[in-house]
Amino acid sequence: MKRLAITLMSIIMLMDFTSAYAWGPKGHDVVAAIAEQHLTPKAKRKINKLLEGKSIVYYSSWMDNIQNSPYWEYGYNKTKTWHYANVDKGLTYETMPKNENGDVVNGLEMLTKEMTENYKELTDSMKVDYLKMIVHMVGDLHCPMHAGRLSDRGGNNTRVMWFRNETSLHSVWDSKMIDSARQWSYSEWCEQLDRKSRKYRKEIVKGDYEDWFMKTVEEAAKLYDYVESTGEIVPSLSYQFVYDFTPLLEEQLLNAGYRLAYVLNEIFD
Ligand SMILES: [Zn+2]
Repeated sequence: MKRLAITLMSIIMLMDFTSAYAWGPKGHDVVAAIAEQHLTPKAKRKINKLLEGKSIVYYSSWMDNIQNSPYWEYGYNKTKTWHYANVDKGLTYETMPKNENGDVVNGLEMLTKEMTENYKELTDSMKVDYLKMIVHMVGDLHCPMHAGRLSDRGGNNTRVMWFRNETSLHSVWDSKMIDSARQWSYSEWCEQLDRKSRKYRKEIVKGDYEDWFMKTVEEAAKLYDYVESTGEIVPSLSYQFVYDFTPLLEEQLLNAGYRLAYVLNEIFD
């Protein structure tokens, strides 16, 4: 019995561990692909040189993969908490208790500051790492459950039925929503979403990381409200949920793409 309990415990831990990837690779690819369309020629050239001809799409999920790599002498394990910031209901980024290891908001602020104010002091490999991190983290900043509540570990402890399988609300938003909403490739997502006016693009990049994060917190609150409104202990989510929240998914991916382009142009142009 004890052994069974230990096995179950390790399965649950493994489940939670694997569900820590925001958006999943496809979501991050979509965000980076949209951003790539809006880089200035100068930013494009500099990024191309740093990444030795590879694209920001190519490296959009690098940060998720590197955190589990054995090459931790570079200190990538220190970035494990930089993918999210969990904020409980009624609190803001300003008032929430901060994770002492850093979070997605202050991580992005630090990296962007390094890449602007301290650029000349950085080695090329640091520039490359920081660039790849910014590309990934701006995506994470827009993933609703990466701005989820601290009390349920960013939706990891909120259990839901996704069609016929039990999972967490966090996991639904990592990759299940995007795969259920459309059967598109990342480039088809990019092509279909990236159709907003110049006015919209100008408007959406106003504010800073903290403002953008708080907008994601607001969107996450709608998801919690929805789940709670079902009155079920393990709410069943399926077609209706996909229909209701696909616009939110699309908006978050699109805005993340435009904002990432803005950040990279600020750094490299
Ligand atoms: Zn991540």
